[in-house]
Amino acid sequence: MSAIEKLMLAGDHRQPVRNGEVWLVGAGPGDAELLTLKALRVIRQADVVVFDRLVSPAVMALLPPEALRIDVGKSMGCHTLSQKQIDHLLVELALSGNRVVRLKGGDPFIFGRGGEEMVELQRHGVVCHVVPGITAGSGCAAASGIPLTHRDYAQSVRFVTGHCRNGEVNLDWRGLVSAGQTLVFYMGLTLSETIATQLIRHGMAAQTPLAIIERGTLPQQRVLTGTLSELPTLIARQRPVSPSLLVIGEVVSLYRAPAIVSEMPTEALTA
Ligand code: SAH
Repeated sequence: MSAIEKLMLAGDHRQPVRNGEVWLVGAGPGDAELLTLKALRVIRQADVVVFDRLVSPAVMALLPPEALRIDVGKSMGCHTLSQKQIDHLLVELALSGNRVVRLKGGDPFIFGRGGEEMVELQRHGVVCHVVPGITAGSGCAAASGIPLTHRDYAQSVRFVTGHCRNGEVNLDWRGLVSAGQTLVFYMGLTLSETIATQLIRHGMAAQTPLAIIERGTLPQQRVLTGTLSELPTLIARQRPVSPSLLVIGEVVSLYRAPAIVSEMPTEALTA
């Protein structure tokens, strides 16, 4: 028996749940090997899994075959279920006695509306556990070889949402432009032109290096690099698709495109 299997058995507390409970689980940025051991154990014990568009096929393959899967996948502007309906669904599933896993891309509490779901569950007296995940910002950057806070270049990092309501984005641009700070924009593709224009207008050098990490940690990952002023052209020419992140700051100059992809040999995870 492998060390991981022993650990999982030791943590297996499968007992009937009286009122049902919900586990808000972070699925990480995509590569299934970036799941935590705890996430894997909890997923394997689920009766029902309510999942998002961002959960990768590799992670979905780890769900127990008998678990009911409910896709509440959201892509920008196109919601399968409203947030209110998702909250309601989670409450109902739990109160009917199910062991519910709410599986979300990255970390459930980073731009994932996991906080709202937790509050709603608590309001209805449903026990809610949270299993953190590797958020796309740190996971995709690290896996691409971009050290977000290399101390020669950055003393802080900001995770920022580029999600807008009615085409408007309301950000503290002045606060975002600060020496020694790396910016990571989630959901920033649509607004990339505004992001570049506003940052430059508020004093960021047009030559600041930036990277677009498209489908980070997935087999289709692409890393596109350029400077802040080149952002609109980069997007027009390369047409990155969702999910993508923008990383802006001097640390991006440390990025080196991999010449040969070599990986440590690994045993494949099996369900
Ligand atoms: N809770 C998630 C973020 C949800 S917001 C987390 O912690 O990672 C969704 C945004 O995350 C996407 O629009 C994209 O900007 C980013 N994202 C998520 N997965 C990604 C990936 N594999 N590669 C690049 N960006 C990703």
